[in-house]
Amino acid sequence: MFSAELERLRNSYNSHKTKSISWRRDQVRAMMRMINENRDAIGDALKKDLNKSQMDMELMELMCVHNDIIDTLDNLEERMKPDKCRKSLLSVMNTVEVRKEPFGVVLVIGAWNFPFMLTLQPLVGAIAAGNCAVIKPSELAPESGALIKQLVEKYLDPDCFSVIIAGPKESSDLINNHRFDLIFYTGGSFVGKLIMQAAAKHLTPVILELGGKNPCYVDKSCDLDCTAKRIAWGKWSNAGQACVAPDFILCEQAIREPLIEKIKEKVREMYGDDPKNSESYGRIVNERHVKRLRALLEGVEIVYGGDIDESDRYFAPTIVTNVKEDAAIKNEEIFGPILPIYIVKDIDEAISIMNDGEKSLQLSVFARDRKVIDKVTAKTSSGGITVNDLLIQHGELDLPFGGVGDSGIGNYHGKYTFDTFSQKRSVYESFTPELMNVVRYPPYSQRQLSVLRPLVFKSGPIPKPIWFFLKLAVIASAGVLMAYLYKIVTESKKFS
Ligand code: NAD
Repeated sequence: MFSAELERLRNSYNSHKTKSISWRRDQVRAMMRMINENRDAIGDALKKDLNKSQMDMELMELMCVHNDIIDTLDNLEERMKPDKCRKSLLSVMNTVEVRKEPFGVVLVIGAWNFPFMLTLQPLVGAIAAGNCAVIKPSELAPESGALIKQLVEKYLDPDCFSVIIAGPKESSDLINNHRFDLIFYTGGSFVGKLIMQAAAKHLTPVILELGGKNPCYVDKSCDLDCTAKRIAWGKWSNAGQACVAPDFILCEQAIREPLIEKIKEKVREMYGDDPKNSESYGRIVNERHVKRLRALLEGVEIVYGGDIDESDRYFAPTIVTNVKEDAAIKNEEIFGPILPIYIVKDIDEAISIMNDGEKSLQLSVFARDRKVIDKVTAKTSSGGITVNDLLIQHGELDLPFGGVGDSGIGNYHGKYTFDTFSQKRSVYESFTPELMNVVRYPPYSQRQLSVLRPLVFKSGPIPKPIWFFLKLAVIASAGVLMAYLYKIVTESKKFS
């Protein structure tokens, strides 16, 4: 059934309509209208799916999409221009450049935790780069998915976009039975691997925006009050269901108790004595995930929270310690409101734990000691690192967002989204007269090679002092030339 739909999109793409800058601008502007004219409906959908507050909707769903749209409209023309390349001596007269071309019909698969942002933000870049797109929101945020479908159909070019509401079985069929030109997937690494396998059949490029266990090291030099506040906000926004939220905390024994006490204090300040009644505290996406999270409390000591109301999908902000070696929470991504705190001997042990598991999407460190910050940054690897803050980096347009290793392949946001959805096509056009080309054709001779070699083999970089003297020589020669010209002009005036 979907084949006909896909063919329709492919025909539109092949008509080249998506390549004009005016079409791209119109579609991106239509996305802006789509958001601005439907804020209430978006808010309602997010409330039903995840009990998101208006603030969460504005700052964590719509702000990034809005800013990417503005950034795209401001910079599209510049981004679409070919990149001029350096040339070898043989190519001085030729055009050597990289053009940014669309891939064709791309598939964007989103996760449920930020259903609008995770589908619409990639879509801005897909459009900017001139692609047609199939969008598949997560079935686990059904109200948001249905609204995305309705809005895309109403606001965007129906010949070029299609939204599919599909569960795992149909999604699997979609990627296994149809050929896309690029797949942009956000979700867990298990499904990410299935996507990559399916894509391999057609050698379809994939961008995988995955998750994992994000470590957060709290050093004894940190500003405890500020650290606790930012952890409480970073961990329990959207009830912990954020791919960049800290999964667990590492700290030395001496600060564990004061840190826990401060975090409790901050949670109470933010969500009151009973977060269940707070307008600002979210809900778990469904009962299955509440059960999954409840099971993660096996083999831990709950030092704060732990209240669960399955029927309301409520799971309190929860802090756990003394985690047993074989507890599931140690290995599984939590992706919910449980925060384990582990004791480390020192920073070296913390770094060794951070390097032990798979590479994380986001790593964080809270410290005032510069040496600690530099050491953690230098000796670990992750998609991104935040120092003395959490989540906030996500809104920075010029920071590429994406993972490394198990946390993903590729990145996006701002100009990076445009790059991700563009094929870099090498363009070489020759204007060299044939007379200057004789040196490359057979029959070959030793003499030919000795002429050609200095033209095509690069010599190493020119040492800085030589560069300096070369520049000086050029400036001096220009000066001498100008003085000479000046003399000729003034003398010719004398005689006239
Ligand atoms: P998921 O892997 O269950 O599903 C993600 C998407 O894949 C959904 O749209 C789903 O319908 C689809 N899907 C499921 N099975 C499929 C299959 N067999 N073939 C094709 N598509 C299939 O992930 P989730 O539970 O929705 O999200 C949670 C995970 O996503 C966490 O690991 C989290 O860290 C990660 N995440 C990452 C980011 C990021 O930007 N890096 C953002 C949000 C969530």
